[in-house]
Amino acid sequence: MKEIYEKLNKDPERRGELGPESRFKFNCHKGIACFNKCCGELEIFLSPYDILRMKRRFGKTSGEFLVEYTDMVVTDKNKLPFIKLRMAEGKQCKFVTKEGCSIYEDRPLACRYYPLGFAIGKRTMTEGEDFYFLIEESFCKGFKEDKEWVVKDWREREGIAKYESMNSDWIEVILNKKLLGKSVVPDEKTISMFILGAYDVDAFRVFVHESKFLQIFDLNDEELQLITENEEELMKFAHRWLRYALFREPTMYLKNRDEVNEPQKGSGCSSCQ
Ligand code: SF4
Ligand code: SF4
Repeated sequence: MKEIYEKLNKDPERRGELGPESRFKFNCHKGIACFNKCCGELEIFLSPYDILRMKRRFGKTSGEFLVEYTDMVVTDKNKLPFIKLRMAEGKQCKFVTKEGCSIYEDRPLACRYYPLGFAIGKRTMTEGEDFYFLIEESFCKGFKEDKEWVVKDWREREGIAKYESMNSDWIEVILNKKLLGKSVVPDEKTISMFILGAYDVDAFRVFVHESKFLQIFDLNDEELQLITENEEELMKFAHRWLRYALFREPTMYLKNRDEVNEPQKGSGCSSCQ
């Protein structure tokens, strides 16, 4: 399979690869015959920023949101849990109504991208470039419409850059080469750390303020104020902590150490609890 993919990978046209300047024909509107058909029988994986936006919309904590609206799945490839939106009975998305998406302003990144898909080629087994592609479902009439889009304009309309910036450190975590190595099997502690840092921002806030975290990690007053007052900054900080705690990347500073950027064994999250 990998071989076939690598061969296809050498031929961008055959692979249907699109770049930011590529054009595609598509239009979606309420009067179209297939309206809402794309909001059922599908798997929607949520990014951390999706979870933050949606839990806020529903006035839930991140923990409550995860329990009530999502399922956790572990992929063979990444070995760490990913979060999937739980569908209603009948496999419809819980948020679809006759009028369309009831959480439109906070719809997940995958829904924003659709009908585009996005493949991260860099740093994965194919070592190719990142690219976009069209997800052409047979039921979707949007491709028969006359409106033409440029990929970069679609991205702008859908506010995708903000999501990518919010999720950037999390992407670094899930694409870490150590994790992609076949022999790595994360233990329970690693998995718990990942869930806490990646998806459960409210539990992470408690962890920062009610454990020894602030005695161990060196944050200046400005940083502390920022992550205390701004939940998005707290989420990004949690992702940087994950890079440190899981892979010992120099993304955090320890107090009382000269070699603050050189974390050593044992200085991960277990010492903070
Ligand atoms: S199936 Fe395609 S055209 Fe129809 S509502 Fe969904 S995205 Fe729009
Ligand atoms: S979140 Fe909204 S756009 Fe996404 S599948 Fe559900 S109803 Fe459709």
